[in-house]
Amino acid sequence: MRAEILCVGTELLHGDIVNTNAAFISKQLAKIGIDVHYQSVVGDNPDRMKEAYRIALNRADVIISTGGLGPTRDDITKEVVAEFFELPMVYDEESYKHMVERYTKFQRKVPENNLRQAYFPQGSKILTNVLGTANACILDRSDKRGNQKIVVLLPGPPFEMKPLLEKQVVPYLSGYSDQTVVACKIVVTELGESRAEEMVLDLIESQTNPTIATYAGKGEVLFRITAKARTKEKALELIDPVKQELLKRFGGNATLVSNDAGVEEIVAQLLLDKGITLATAESCTGGLLAGKLINFPGISKVYKEGFVTYTDESKEKRLGVSSRTLENFGAVSKETAKEMAKGVCETAGADMGVSVTGIAGPSGATAQKPVGLIYICIFYKGEYTLKELNRDGDRQTIRERAVNTALDEMRKLLLKTVREER
Ligand code: ATP
Repeated sequence: MRAEILCVGTELLHGDIVNTNAAFISKQLAKIGIDVHYQSVVGDNPDRMKEAYRIALNRADVIISTGGLGPTRDDITKEVVAEFFELPMVYDEESYKHMVERYTKFQRKVPENNLRQAYFPQGSKILTNVLGTANACILDRSDKRGNQKIVVLLPGPPFEMKPLLEKQVVPYLSGYSDQTVVACKIVVTELGESRAEEMVLDLIESQTNPTIATYAGKGEVLFRITAKARTKEKALELIDPVKQELLKRFGGNATLVSNDAGVEEIVAQLLLDKGITLATAESCTGGLLAGKLINFPGISKVYKEGFVTYTDESKEKRLGVSSRTLENFGAVSKETAKEMAKGVCETAGADMGVSVTGIAGPSGATAQKPVGLIYICIFYKGEYTLKELNRDGDRQTIRERAVNTALDEMRKLLLKTVREER
């Protein structure tokens, strides 16, 4: 089955919002062996929308569309699809009740024009949107030439779209796919993308099932091994020897992670497994490290506190960094990073303290301390693990790299601790 994802929204075309829906849907379809051949975006203009659907329906069997289900005049996705298939729009009492219930729950009156949210192209399978007022639908029918076409119309807001897709659309479409796709990821650190790829190029070039794809992240390279088979077990069997070979070649630089896990999830999991409490002190990353860790549900059991200590004064006052250290070595120095890590660990009463201080640029550099110079320190069990980083890039990239490196240093230290304890 060939799929196309068609996202409706003028905001997407203007670049006001990023099309995260398309990325999420592609990932979910890949898991059930449905290949996405195209992703397209169209504004809320009826003629251009019709044209976009016409093109999509000609070249794909499944069209998953998001956006334009709401109550406003430009929300016309359902009408456009109904017109394409020459179907009338029919009223669905259950969808109307659902909408009224949602409005009542939040003590709001149903606006007059919202009635259109209860109309769907005739023959649609209606999907209840538990987190929104506008229900979604699937239209599964033959086109004029007798080819089966499945059109799925989902709401635009990602938090509404995701559960509808995962809980209702994916199970529906799985019935049409006899393939299961399984993937695993290996994160490789401390090797550049070309060096890492070179080390396994023979495998990348010779593999067809599973395939090996490389993605360069900030401070890491990711290898995704993907296999297609009739069953999950069969797909895992295909993956296993390739996975072992990659792990062997990359040795200590490689970590195997579950398909969707990032380094922060591995760190969070290790902290939780070992019951190690953590506190962070950040300067140039301004809370990005804390934010990444807090993405992980359940982290409150081990993550105690995070400080953004941006000025020298704050580093002294909150973390007890000595004024002499700041004067003699500066805020961006090994010495300050060490005192920040120890200071936050002690202030928070945590087992581990992590600090990041650096020059994210574009200003603030000196001859000795260029933009991109970052110090990361971990204070754990009375010992310091220090990392100096020198990376080119814009302010945002440098800050993200600093966070990824800090997480990776934590991952390595935690894995070492686990190994030593065994
Ligand atoms: P509503 O009932 O809120 O009007 P809708 O189904 O009509 O929902 P839109 O109006 O197109 O959807 O989008 C609502 C919001 O959802 C957008 O402002 C945007 O924040 C988010 N959104 C829409 N499409 C996408 C997308 N493709 N990726 C990420 N976010 C999106």
